[in-house]
Amino acid sequence: MKKETFVTKEQIEEIVKTYPTPFHIYDEKGIRENAKALKEAFSWNKGYKEFFAVKATPNPFLMSILREYGCGCDCSSYTELMLSKAMGVKGEDIMFSSNNTPASEYQFAAKLGATINLDDITHIEFLEKTLGYLPKTLSCRFNPGGYFSLGTDIMDNPGDAKYGFTTEQMFEGFKILKEKGVEHFGIHAFLASNTVTNEYYPTLAKQLFELAVRLKEETGAHIAFINLSGGIGIPYRPDQTPNDIRVIGEEVRKVYEEVLTPAGMGDVAIYTELGRFMMGPYGALVTQVIHQKHIHKEYVGVDACAVNLMRPAMYGAYHHITVLGKEEAPCDHMYDVTGSLCENNDKFAIDRMLPEVEIGDYIVIHDAGAHGYSMGYNYNGKLKSAELLLHEDGSVQLIRRAETPKDYFATFDCFEIFDRLNESR
Ligand SMILES: *Cc1c(COP(=O)(O)O)cnc(C)c1O
Repeated sequence: MKKETFVTKEQIEEIVKTYPTPFHIYDEKGIRENAKALKEAFSWNKGYKEFFAVKATPNPFLMSILREYGCGCDCSSYTELMLSKAMGVKGEDIMFSSNNTPASEYQFAAKLGATINLDDITHIEFLEKTLGYLPKTLSCRFNPGGYFSLGTDIMDNPGDAKYGFTTEQMFEGFKILKEKGVEHFGIHAFLASNTVTNEYYPTLAKQLFELAVRLKEETGAHIAFINLSGGIGIPYRPDQTPNDIRVIGEEVRKVYEEVLTPAGMGDVAIYTELGRFMMGPYGALVTQVIHQKHIHKEYVGVDACAVNLMRPAMYGAYHHITVLGKEEAPCDHMYDVTGSLCENNDKFAIDRMLPEVEIGDYIVIHDAGAHGYSMGYNYNGKLKSAELLLHEDGSVQLIRRAETPKDYFATFDCFEIFDRLNESR
């Protein structure tokens, strides 16, 4: 499928008059249409809820758009809980799916009334000691080990993942929790990441539904919800076919009616914790070409770097690139598109075929809406860029300003050098 940008060259030329590159820009229309489609796809399930994975795009303006479609928040840290609280999200609208969790984070989650999703059997005792009690509702994260396959395709390797309870621990854990007075149980699993196939959720659901039936039969636990978590991916590459959320919802329904309904478990709520699927395609990193370099290879140097989007540097991830205004030009030039970090992995693309690029061109790096800005860091003293929201009426709103040197130096504020740092230019 041809990958198109949601902004045009003309729009960007107007926007940069107010907000200089680089910046992340988000497409409100796309976010809304997708959130609506997800909600409809699971509307067959009475208790259905999406808990947006805050870590993907922790911006309150974007999160509040999702709130309009009934989304809660999936948090994994203290500050993500703070952000949710500040937005008025509390109680059962927060899922706390953390791991290796500090006591203070469990305390804060419990104070907000969040549903706690335990990552390990030893955390039963840890949580009880930390809080002095156990909440009436608790969830446990499941890790079956081995490989997760769809047909003959290996999708991911849970056996090598640090998360979750083993199968035996799920049974033991539920028994212990029940003895300790827990009344309602959840089951959670995240077994494959960024799956671009409609089969992931239905296959995962079958596995979890069958486990739920066995857990109920053997421990007598009341299973209140099953959390399919994240993992629905997006087509980063033009040759990939996007997931069809309606098909996914319908296939999960079939498995539900095949496994849970006959077991008298037709009241179990389905939860999801999607991040990438909710925001990924609806955010882009916009950057300008500032240099070109011709040595052993051809380089295009842009004013963004891995600090703004580290997925290519970290995982060698593919992000599609459009040179604005040259959408129809032939891709007959091969470039490495680089940032300015003193790290050779600071490349947004390697050996990428693009139209002939010139200094001053605006480049859109696609699918940066999830795990993009939020993964950013400050290496080389580079500052994080602004986030903008493109509204449906074409207007643009600043939803996070760019960092300034003052932000970068803020953590020296208790030292004498602080004032001199902020005065020096
Ligand atoms: C990261 C994460 C998610 C979201 O994953 P996506 O791939 O963005 O959908 C959901 N749940 C948990 C526990 C996570 O760690």
